Amino acid sequence: SFHADVVPQAPEDPLFGLMAAFRKDTFENKVDLGIGAYRDNNAKPWVLPVVKKADEILRSDPNLNHEYLPIAGLQEFTSASQKLILGADSPAIKERRVTSLQTISGTGAVHLGALFLSKFYHPNTKRAVYFSNPTWVNHHQIFSNVHLPHHTYPYFSKKTKGLDFEGMIESIENAPEGSIILLHACAHNPTGVDPTQDQWKEICKVMQAKKHFPFFDCAYQGFASGDLNKDAWAVRYFIDQGFELCIAQSYAKNFGLYGERAGCFHFVTGPSPDAENIISRIASQLAILQRSEISNPPAYGARIASLVLNDAELFAEWEDNLRTMSGRIIDMRRTLRSKLEEMGTPGTWNHITDQIGMFSFTGLTEKQVLKIREDAHVYMTKNGRISMAGLNTHNIEYFAKAVDKVIR
Ligand code: PMP
Repeated sequence: SFHADVVPQAPEDPLFGLMAAFRKDTFENKVDLGIGAYRDNNAKPWVLPVVKKADEILRSDPNLNHEYLPIAGLQEFTSASQKLILGADSPAIKERRVTSLQTISGTGAVHLGALFLSKFYHPNTKRAVYFSNPTWVNHHQIFSNVHLPHHTYPYFSKKTKGLDFEGMIESIENAPEGSIILLHACAHNPTGVDPTQDQWKEICKVMQAKKHFPFFDCAYQGFASGDLNKDAWAVRYFIDQGFELCIAQSYAKNFGLYGERAGCFHFVTGPSPDAENIISRIASQLAILQRSEISNPPAYGARIASLVLNDAELFAEWEDNLRTMSGRIIDMRRTLRSKLEEMGTPGTWNHITDQIGMFSFTGLTEKQVLKIREDAHVYMTKNGRISMAGLNTHNIEYFAKAVDKVIR
């Protein structure tokens, strides 16, 4: 029988603990670089103007109700999401070999994909999934929950603070044939390090030779470079090479819809005469999994995103909002690097501008992270990751000086 007293205390979520410590700190110039959400130049959450507009349109619709969405979600949302990630003229869409379900943001999409693979991907000889080391910590938990074995491949080079490309390739090459390889489509979390297009081509080649299955996690399309197509390049390249793959797509960051939980899961099968039948069977199984997990996805965030994605004028405004967010972050990267270089802070700082997206792996050691928290009230995760969005023109000088001091 079940004894509630055997349930052990779980360790505290490290990010949650960090946020609590930040809130408790009464120091006036404290700096929060832990949070994985965009902040404006005044360290405040930013509701995208285009989202505000879509919100007003929705609210003024007298026919809006709170009925259930279909199991696979809002159809105009999922089809627009396909076009966004795959490209409007994607052959996979034309050949009807994509199926898409609306999910509980990116997390739900990763989970649905993991669950599907655990049930149907080589069901008799379970294949392992390989994550980059490091990766978004939730990947480990999500795939553990569906009992898929998981391993890691080298990714971050401590020496260059860039990609350990040789290590990554070698590990993917050595993984048993038909392994699942989880890849971050752009703006790798937590390192900010992405492969170059040439490196992606190499990764693709090795994965083709080993018949691996790519699982793309795409949480930052448009948020990384400011260019929706550029940030989707790797995914589209793999599809062009004929891969069968899946994609977890999140609208948390690029729409600032964090709490509304808008996301999408896509399964793309390779080109074949039977592709349409295959995809229809896959869709039928995904619908059953979705039904048992969440029944129906939440409506509000998907309605907002859908309005914007399906209206040329709103879409253009969204692209402008994306450039505002990515532009501010890129600006902060440049400023931080140049301040550190001006002060002659020991070490090299090109990685700050080479890395992309929300996060940067600074290279600060755990000891330095704890010291900078204690001395300067700057909060970042123990692995030395900072959220670039936490920096602004008011605190960047303060932060750069704190880094300089802790390194010397
Ligand atoms: N994958 C990665 C790599 C992420 O960084 C995130 C956001 N932290 C997600 C997935 C999913 O986030 P959400 O569920 O909020 O969309």
